[in-house]
Amino acid sequence: MEKRKINSIILHCSYSQFGNVDLIDQWHKERGWHGCGYHYVITNGVIKAHEKYLAFHDGLVQVGRDINKTGAHCKGRNTGSIGICLIGRHTFTAKQLYSALPELLSKLMFDHSLTIDQVHGHFEFSRQKSCPNISKEIIRKIAEFSV
Ligand SMILES: [Zn+2]
Repeated sequence: MEKRKINSIILHCSYSQFGNVDLIDQWHKERGWHGCGYHYVITNGVIKAHEKYLAFHDGLVQVGRDINKTGAHCKGRNTGSIGICLIGRHTFTAKQLYSALPELLSKLMFDHSLTIDQVHGHFEFSRQKSCPNISKEIIRKIAEFSV
C-alpha cells in the first residue's frame, strides 16, 4: 500500500463510557461507513456497557483503520490526518492520558516528523463539537510531554 503523507494528528473521544475498537467498528458500520473511522483507539478499562472497570483493559492502544488509508473522523480534515479516539465522555483515566496517549503520540510524531502544533483536538475544526472534551492547553501539554 502506498504511504500516506501525514500532516496532523486529531484527538477524539467516543462520547461513551465504555468501548473498544470492535465496538466503534460496529457503530461506524451502522452509520454506513467503512468500519472504524479512527486509526487508533485507546481503551479506558470498560469494554462493554454495565461491565466493571478492569485495569488490564485500561490504556490499551488498539489499531483501527490502516494508517495508510484516509480516516473518517473529522469533516474536511481527514486527508493527511491521523485520528485517535479515547474511549470516554468527559473524563479519562490516567493511563489513557499520561501513559498510552503520550507513548502513541511520541511514536507517531517521530515517525511522521510532526511538531506539537500539529496535534489537535477535534473541536478546533468543528464549531458544534467539544470533542474530545480535553482542553487545548492539556492537549498541548500532553504533546509537549510526548516529544
Ligand atoms: Zn471527534
